[in-house]
Amino acid sequence: MCSLSAVYYDDSALKHLLFLAKSGTTRGDESIGFGVYVNDGYVVTKAMKNEGGISTAYKEMTELVGGREVSFGIAQTRYSTKGKSDKKHAQPFRIETKHEVIVGHNGNVANSKEFAKKHKINRITETESDTEVLALFLSESDTVEKGIRGIVKDAIGSYNLTILDENKTLTVLRDPMGVHPLWQGYGKNRELFFASEDSALYSIGCFNTRELEPGEMIQISEKGVKTARFPSKKIAECAFEPFYFMKPGSKHKNTLVQNIRYEIGKVFGKKEDMISENGIVVPVLDSGGFFAEGFSKETGMPYVEALMKNAGERIYMDPDKRDPFRLNLSRKEKAMLKHIVLPDLVREKSVFLIEDSIVRGDTSSAITEMLKEAGAAEIHWRSAFLKIIRGCISGLDHSTRKELIAAQDESEKDIAKKIGANSVRYLTIEDMPQIFGDISNYCFACGTGIYPIRVPEECRSAIEII
Ligand code: AMP
Repeated sequence: MCSLSAVYYDDSALKHLLFLAKSGTTRGDESIGFGVYVNDGYVVTKAMKNEGGISTAYKEMTELVGGREVSFGIAQTRYSTKGKSDKKHAQPFRIETKHEVIVGHNGNVANSKEFAKKHKINRITETESDTEVLALFLSESDTVEKGIRGIVKDAIGSYNLTILDENKTLTVLRDPMGVHPLWQGYGKNRELFFASEDSALYSIGCFNTRELEPGEMIQISEKGVKTARFPSKKIAECAFEPFYFMKPGSKHKNTLVQNIRYEIGKVFGKKEDMISENGIVVPVLDSGGFFAEGFSKETGMPYVEALMKNAGERIYMDPDKRDPFRLNLSRKEKAMLKHIVLPDLVREKSVFLIEDSIVRGDTSSAITEMLKEAGAAEIHWRSAFLKIIRGCISGLDHSTRKELIAAQDESEKDIAKKIGANSVRYLTIEDMPQIFGDISNYCFACGTGIYPIRVPEECRSAIEII
């Protein structure tokens, strides 16, 4: 996942972009980039996490800008899906073929090769990035708006975009299926702010907010604000966003994510058939907390924070590709490095661990082992999200199928055995209407294998759908 931020006509544009981007790093922080307009042209800076990430990119930008005025720009924080995690792939992409464009992207275009071929994109792309294909296409189009029309027509997948162009225009698009969130905020002096999540806007004191509609495009320039809407037959909001990616203080469909998670925990708690007098409900950090509170409320088993987290880098990512500090530890060892079990709280207890999701099972295996060593009597895993059985084509790194612990739709019993726990339970697709109401406008493909759109040939083998 990535985050997008943008500001338009704002005296403190650069500082506000820093705050918005900082808030976006929970959605991805492998690299960060800024693109801003200064006097007579754009300045772009980018830094990888191991180069100092946001502070390095920001410091470099302030040095380049000097004392000059900056009144609009964009920022992007990246979590790579397509393409490598290196500086070449860091965003925003600055491209100038026919026109100059600077592009930030959140999402994943699943047919980017097919798209490039169809549109005879002239320049050979320098990266494996779908964003570069979009940026090249936009740069070669007569206008950004025409380019967006082409993208909406032929790109498959998800593509929230922020675009700066040579006409000193900022264009913001939420893709027509509305896969990932994108919010707009209104400043006190008519400034316009954009961020992937509304809570980012609160970080700059902007509380007048609304979510962009799927397919909504906003273009802002000295001439004013222009809007357009690209309707789609299919809306497919990513269901995993409120389970894992979004901050608990952000809103999903005008409900706080923390409240949604609490309710999900209650739904789960109602189904619990192993309630134990000796039981404790332990959240798996960080996102398990609100689920665990709801689960505890419903089951009557006490909520106990028996896990602590060591600060450190993300362990979820592919170690070869995304181990910025080259620790050379296995994923399970990294999960152990990241967590501390408090023995006094778990000894002789039946521990119910509430997790947002189990993907490969590394985190759950590691914590199970640590709990056993600390003297827990029983270990029960409860995953709020569905069994993850397929990869994602829309921007989540849910790994290739063979790595998923539930890839072959193994039974809960088999998975418990693999993890070493006494039991494992997942919420199921049948539980979801209790949480989301009508689920037809959501994408649950990673849990059901039913994709909302045609899966392009070029990514079928990559995510091993077959
Ligand atoms: P795993 O250890 O592979 O089973 O991954 C599960 C852990 O990774 C859970 O603690 C999740 O909160 C977290 N997680 C799930 N999906 C993602 C994702 N797409 N990116 C990063 N972390 C994730």
